Amino acid sequence: MQRLKTAKDIDGIRESCVLLSRIFEELKSVVAEGITPREIDALVRSRAREMGAKPAFLGYRGFPAAICISPNDAVIHGIPGKRKLKSGDIVGLDCGLNLRGFFSDAALTLPVGRVTPESELLMRVTREALECAVGQAVCGNRISDISRAVYDTAKKNGLGVVRAYCGHGVGFSPHEDPEVPNYVHRGSNPRLKPGMVLAIEPMLTAGGDDVEVLDDDWTVVTADGSFSAHFEHTVAIFAGHTEVLTAW
Ligand code: MG
Ligand code: MG
Repeated sequence: MQRLKTAKDIDGIRESCVLLSRIFEELKSVVAEGITPREIDALVRSRAREMGAKPAFLGYRGFPAAICISPNDAVIHGIPGKRKLKSGDIVGLDCGLNLRGFFSDAALTLPVGRVTPESELLMRVTREALECAVGQAVCGNRISDISRAVYDTAKKNGLGVVRAYCGHGVGFSPHEDPEVPNYVHRGSNPRLKPGMVLAIEPMLTAGGDDVEVLDDDWTVVTADGSFSAHFEHTVAIFAGHTEVLTAW
């Protein structure tokens, strides 16, 4: 089970999340036709350095970049490459910071230029799924309430739900227990308690649920080539309320 956080710990995690949110705010204005994911990665590295924070994913289990950039059929864990973004792409950006040992984690998916109505729907519903899930992330509920909110929102809209990867505890390290799946399954289903900090992150597809890992050993893509969207917040559970610590 996750080590619960004190109010003071959550203050530290909140600070990490505020800095991360500033980076995302900037990314929203730089993601456009013509920029390369590698240039975006360089920007994140320099901003993190200026803030006195470390990119949490750089070197984590050997990941070679500060941010995961996953366009189109890539779901998560995309390594920033040299191919320029083009109109019609949808780009998942997933980043975390380590500020003096306090870890944040967030993701969003942005359109580049003009995207199809299907891509618009995919992004809108994935974001809605996150909002519904956060609404269930309250003291006394269980992890499965979060999972069900994501799954039902996706299926109501005819979208696929990636099952092979899930949300997680966060705060003292990039990934902690408990797992926060985007579908309901039998197995460990802890009750939400004050002091839990969770990264909730629906990963939905315009097609099926299945994914594959590319030969780079990182990039997770949809098996059917359909586009995927990913949104994520870090949230802290208190006795009487839940605080969304990240913002984009
Ligand atoms: Mg993330
Ligand atoms: Mg995460």
